[in-house]
Amino acid sequence: MRKILYIIGLTTFVFSCTSQKNVKKKSYSPPKPVTQPKTVVKTGVSEKPKPQVTNEHGVEFFTTNIGDVTKNDNTASYGSIVSAKPIGYKVVKTYFPAIAQNFRQKYLILHYTALLDDKSITVLTEQNVSSHYLVNNTGDNEIYQLVDENKRAYHAGISSWRNDKNLNDTSIGVEIVNSGYTTDAMGNRVFASFSDEQIRKVAALAKDIITRYQIPPTNVLGHADIAPTRKQDPGPMFPWKRLYEQYQIGMWYDEEMKKSFYDLASIDFTTKYYEPSFIFNIQTQLQKFGYGVDPSGKWDDATKKTIEAFQYHFRPQNFSGIMDAETWAILQALNLKYATK
Ligand SMILES: [Zn+2]
Repeated sequence: MRKILYIIGLTTFVFSCTSQKNVKKKSYSPPKPVTQPKTVVKTGVSEKPKPQVTNEHGVEFFTTNIGDVTKNDNTASYGSIVSAKPIGYKVVKTYFPAIAQNFRQKYLILHYTALLDDKSITVLTEQNVSSHYLVNNTGDNEIYQLVDENKRAYHAGISSWRNDKNLNDTSIGVEIVNSGYTTDAMGNRVFASFSDEQIRKVAALAKDIITRYQIPPTNVLGHADIAPTRKQDPGPMFPWKRLYEQYQIGMWYDEEMKKSFYDLASIDFTTKYYEPSFIFNIQTQLQKFGYGVDPSGKWDDATKKTIEAFQYHFRPQNFSGIMDAETWAILQALNLKYATK
C-alpha cells in the first residue's frame, strides 16, 4: 500500500514538474529591460537614492557607497563593477543594489622577495607563486602590477590571522625586492635593509589599497605574522613604526601604555618564566592578538617562532624568539589597543 502511494505521489510530482515546464515553455519570452526601479523603492523598504554608475576608460564604478557601514568595517562599494554580458540581455546595476556586500580584499600582506629585481620578476610571473604588486629597487617611480586585485595571487600559502585562514582568498599581496637575510658565524640572521625610495613606494601603494578597501590596521600584516612557523618576511628591517607614524598605516603600540606594562612585568617576570600557566597565558595573548599559535603551556618551537615573528614586527631591535619583559609589555599594550573584545 505504502509503495502504491509512493508511486502515485511520484507520478504526481513528475506530472506537475512536466506541466510547469510546459506552461513555462508556452508563455516564455525574453524578459524586457525594466526602465523604472520597482518594488524596493515603491514599497518603502529602502528610501536610499539609487546608486549611479560612472564609466571611466571602459570600466564601470558606483559613485556612491551602496554597502551598509553600520554592519561591518569593510562595506564600501566603489570598486570596479565586473558583471556578465549575456547575449541578447541587459544586466542592470542600479535598480536593486544590495547593502549586504563587502570587498573580498580584507588584508594587505607585505613580503620581501629574498631575490634581486630580475630574478624576482621571473619567479613571480613564471612560476607557481605571485603577488598583486612588486615594488622594485631601481629608484624609479614605477610599481609593477602582476595580478588583478579582483583575482587571487599565490603569495600567502598556508596562513591564518584571528578567525581567517588561507589568506590568499582575502588579501592583496605586495612583494618588495630585498635580498632577505644571511646567517653569520654565530648562526644569527642578518637582514638586508630597504631603501628609502622603496619604503615611500610601499607606503603610497599601501595607503591607496587600504583606503579603497577600508582595510583595518589589524589586517595590515607581514607574511611572517600570518605564517610564523614558515616565514620571516618582510623581516625586522621593515620599518613598521615609520609606516604607522608617518603614514598611519598598520598597527603600533602606545609608548606610555607599554611603559606601564613594562614596570608591572619587571617585578617577578623571571620567576614565572617556566610556569605552564604563564606560558599558556602568553600563548593565549598572542592568539588573542591574531597569531595562529596553539596554547600548549610549553615553550615549543611554534611558540618560539611566533614570538620571533612578533618581534620582527613590533620589537625589531632584538628578535631572539624569547618572551622577555619588553616583548611582553608590547604585546599587552597592543592587545589593549587592538584585540577584539
Ligand atoms: Zn612572503
